[in-house]
Amino acid sequence: MSQAPNTDTKTPCADAPVGHHRGHPTSKESLVDHARSLDCIHCGLCLTTCPTYQLTGSETSSPRGRIHLMRAVAEDRLEPDAGFREEMDFCLVCRHCESVCPAGVEFGAMMEFTRSSLMERQKPGPFARIARWVGFRRILPSRFGLKAAVLGLNLGQRLGAIRLVAPLMGLRGSVMRHLPKVPPRAERKPLPALTPAKGEKRDRVLVLEGCVMPELFGRVNHAVADTLSATGLDVLAVPKHVCCGALHAHNGEMQAAEGLARKTIDMFDAVDASARVVIDSAGCGAHMREYGRLLANDPKYKERAAAFGDRVVDYSEELNRPEARERLDPLLTGDHGIQGTVTWDDPCHLCHGQGITDQPRELLDAVPGLERKEMTAANSCCGSAGIYSVLRPKDSLDVLAPKLEHLKDCGAKTLVTANPGCHQQWQVGVSREKLDTDVLHLAEVIQRSLRADS
Ligand code: SF4
Ligand code: SF4
Repeated sequence: MSQAPNTDTKTPCADAPVGHHRGHPTSKESLVDHARSLDCIHCGLCLTTCPTYQLTGSETSSPRGRIHLMRAVAEDRLEPDAGFREEMDFCLVCRHCESVCPAGVEFGAMMEFTRSSLMERQKPGPFARIARWVGFRRILPSRFGLKAAVLGLNLGQRLGAIRLVAPLMGLRGSVMRHLPKVPPRAERKPLPALTPAKGEKRDRVLVLEGCVMPELFGRVNHAVADTLSATGLDVLAVPKHVCCGALHAHNGEMQAAEGLARKTIDMFDAVDASARVVIDSAGCGAHMREYGRLLANDPKYKERAAAFGDRVVDYSEELNRPEARERLDPLLTGDHGIQGTVTWDDPCHLCHGQGITDQPRELLDAVPGLERKEMTAANSCCGSAGIYSVLRPKDSLDVLAPKLEHLKDCGAKTLVTANPGCHQQWQVGVSREKLDTDVLHLAEVIQRSLRADS
């Protein structure tokens, strides 16, 4: 990172509306969310919680350090060069720093802003551009594209191609070799438009099936619909919907993220414009709750987006409502076949992004015969972080390594989580370490614990 002389201490963006970077940035101050960066009081309380600071011990790889860098760019004291970009890319956007920050710094929003501006200003090379176009424009928002990608993975696994090429691909190959098998077609069936309430109907909810979830964790979506309907809810799916745009926003594709947010709001509102929207993927939930912020500069959508965000609830929140627990608890049995202790690993975008920590634990504790043990640092990042594990496999596995040690120390035979990226990351970690540990989504645990006649 090359320092420019500090000739000007003005705060160029302080009066600008938050998220004012729309369009093409023409100056350094529009590269970063300077107004938000001013919230930081430099106390340093966030440092030790930050996974990248834990790895390096370096201030520049900490939240406070990154905010310093952003401000230095805005105040023309630092060039936004490759070193600056590297520190922005190294961040997992886990938002652990937000949970401990006494000044309420919205670090996740700042990082999304900076990454998006960097992407617009410093176009990646041709290979990266093509890879991003294919990934973000042709695969993630398209059911056909997702199915084609999963078919490729399935064939690679079945024909042994992945095993053959993995040794040539270093750590990335090792991760690919340990990916769980693509589930059978029966598990990848989409949800019906309506899963009717069992027993007396008490309400209706919408559910997000998501992009990757139906292809790799379709069984989780079905467990969500089964368990919610068992508590008297009509569960409505939105059949043609694919992607909420969370991964796009996370990775600097802000225009695409905004388009997908508008599409999501339109499609869900067309089915029901007032029902709660239940999410079983923490990353999507955290993002969709913030649609109001994302579309704050869009006069046509900003109010609808904010109202939509207010209707978003996590699966654990919905199922742990008193009226749901009243119906759920009598249905739970100890006949679930889950042996040994279980532990809950907080997905970052659930605990830090949405402030949800108690509800999943309370639900696990409600299951008869299930012994839950806390794992050390359950609320620290597992290194999955959206597509971080694909882009930076070494850093991702380095972040996971201490968590695997905590899992061994805790001795749990089942690790429970609620985000597809974390789910996969743990499956890879457990497989590489040859641990005898199952990884399940919370909804799978609840579904297995339902009485057979419910
Ligand atoms: S979001 Fe996570 S990785 Fe990034 S600075 Fe904050 S704590 Fe560190
Ligand atoms: S905890 Fe918040 S205020 Fe303190 S240094 Fe970190 S980001 Fe800044």
